[in-house]
Amino acid sequence: MTPAELLAFDRGHLWHPYTSMTDPAPVRLVTGASGSRITVDGAGEVVDGMASWWSAIHGYRHPVLDEAARRQLATMSHVMFGGLTHEPAVELAARLVDLTPAGLEHVFLADSGSVSIEVAMKMALQYQRGTGHPERTRFLTVRGGYHGDTFDCMSVCDPDGGMHAMWSGVLPEQVFGDCPPRSEVDVAGWAAGFRALAAEHAGRLAGLIVEPLLQGAGGMHPYPASCLPVFREVADEHGLVLIFDEIATGFGRTGTLFAADAAGVAPDVMCVGKALTGGYLSLAATLCTTEVARGLSASDSGVLMHGPTFMGNPLACAVASASLDLLSSVDWRADVLRINAGLQALHGIEAADVRVLGAVGVVQLDHPVDVAKATEAALAEGVWLRPFRDLIYTMPPYVCTDDDIATICRGIAAAAAVA
Ligand code: PLP
Repeated sequence: MTPAELLAFDRGHLWHPYTSMTDPAPVRLVTGASGSRITVDGAGEVVDGMASWWSAIHGYRHPVLDEAARRQLATMSHVMFGGLTHEPAVELAARLVDLTPAGLEHVFLADSGSVSIEVAMKMALQYQRGTGHPERTRFLTVRGGYHGDTFDCMSVCDPDGGMHAMWSGVLPEQVFGDCPPRSEVDVAGWAAGFRALAAEHAGRLAGLIVEPLLQGAGGMHPYPASCLPVFREVADEHGLVLIFDEIATGFGRTGTLFAADAAGVAPDVMCVGKALTGGYLSLAATLCTTEVARGLSASDSGVLMHGPTFMGNPLACAVASASLDLLSSVDWRADVLRINAGLQALHGIEAADVRVLGAVGVVQLDHPVDVAKATEAALAEGVWLRPFRDLIYTMPPYVCTDDDIATICRGIAAAAAVA
């Protein structure tokens, strides 16, 4: 098909994230990706300000990851995980157990971030059943969160005008505390309210689920690391399974390997995804402690009743291990600091708010962004962006050069000016 034919068929038949078939949003044809750049038809090679939604931390077509994929393809691309195991899955699990906070010893290899959250929530519910608390069926969380698009994930997303607000009344009913505060001075007041809410509902709560340090698609809000011990204490006080969703924050994005590391807090269950494979393949993981694993085994079914067809996909696992080894071999902390320094230029943009944390930059306007206009303006500056709501934001690949970062800042400024 010609580019025009591809776009025409796409428009009539192909769903994109968060779009309508009757009123399709415009899409651009992407024809290649290399290093920090993607090739967009009509715009040429542009800096990818999105790292394909947090994931392509090493950039595209990295020789180490390409080679890992080729090597694994020569052995087996996929084989079922029921009753079988293989080196790529075991090697990856060993790395994850080693890298993640202390106590997380058991790994469920899921095929997407949302599935890893479903598994985490199922683990918490089943742990409560197994330890004599079948009445504990709700989750405590905070407003402004985002945990994915499947039904249980949606139930713990921001309930007030968030992406999934239309499902209120249909979704399992959960308990929402206030958004974590923006600044340190407000932590004590927020914590008092959060502790009181937890105490009020404790008897029916199975778990506490949050995105540590940075709420992503629910509004791109960083919050102080001193909130993390509050989550740990609340969970311990009331017997809740503490779940950290590190799907967006994991693998260095906020400046520490995991956001949990910023406060030295270890959760009972942790989900990772996105950058796990360096953005090459769909893979996520749910890790849990031995206490959670034992507790859920004591429940009626005795097993964790979850097993996706593509669980532990060898190709994805092999690339994930290569990506983690690559991360360990480069000075990613220096790259994140360098990107952070470059993104400070965003503070020069006239906006309602500008926030920079690690290798994440956010410009919040005082009105909803005209996505088509903003995208166009950024592309004209040589940058790919994907604004949503009133937010224009970036989380570029760690391999971005200083020039790339300056280009991204110019793209965001141009997008903000027309949006
Ligand atoms: N949790 C967080 C914090 C996310 O940012 C996302 C995706 O954006 C998810 C969960 C869902 O992951 P996936 O899109 O791989 O299902």
